[in-house]
Amino acid sequence: MKLLCDRILHDGHVFPGNVLKVDSFLNHQIDPALLDAMGAEFYRLFEKEGVTKVLTVEASGIAIAIETARYFGVPMVFAKKSQSSNLDAEVFSAPVISYTHHQTYNVMVSRRYLSPDDRVLIVDDFLARGQALLGLIDIVRQAGATVVGCGIAIEKGFQEGGKLIRESGIRLESLAVVESMSDDAVILRNQ
Ligand code: 5GP
Repeated sequence: MKLLCDRILHDGHVFPGNVLKVDSFLNHQIDPALLDAMGAEFYRLFEKEGVTKVLTVEASGIAIAIETARYFGVPMVFAKKSQSSNLDAEVFSAPVISYTHHQTYNVMVSRRYLSPDDRVLIVDDFLARGQALLGLIDIVRQAGATVVGCGIAIEKGFQEGGKLIRESGIRLESLAVVESMSDDAVILRNQ
């Protein structure tokens, strides 16, 4: 997606540990027009899949997922990373090793918000080692629902997550794929 690729090249910064910082438009300050365009693109890619729910994990997936869900006209559900009095006692849960926080979270979704007749599009901001997606896929399967695919804003193509998800037979669409990055350059695929 040209709009997103241009923005990564213009405003992205590489941090130690293979972390691409995009917090001026995606992860902290958010550009609503760009996120709206990303939602429209995911809709174009998955519109024939009969999506009934868009699922992500808090926090940085939420903005993209809500724009996407708005195009599909379906609810957006986000998995929570901590227990709270807001969360039902009955949850689907799966462990996720966080790439950026170097910590394992139990991500949780109330059993009320996923059911066997759901066709779920999973959306997230980044794909690195695939841990977040695998956790969310696990939750959808616990609910007996169907994963129709995964939509990722930025896939780091030099890490193993993309291969892992595609080899599992799940459709994966990434709006931008980072081929490689170093302290002073980000190289995108097909740019
Ligand atoms: P994975 O679970 O695929 O290893 O990592 C994906 C999760 O880690 C995403 O939800 C995202 O929040 C975070 N993440 C992974 N790599 C990066 C990165 O390069 N930059 C940022 N900002 N977040 C990342």
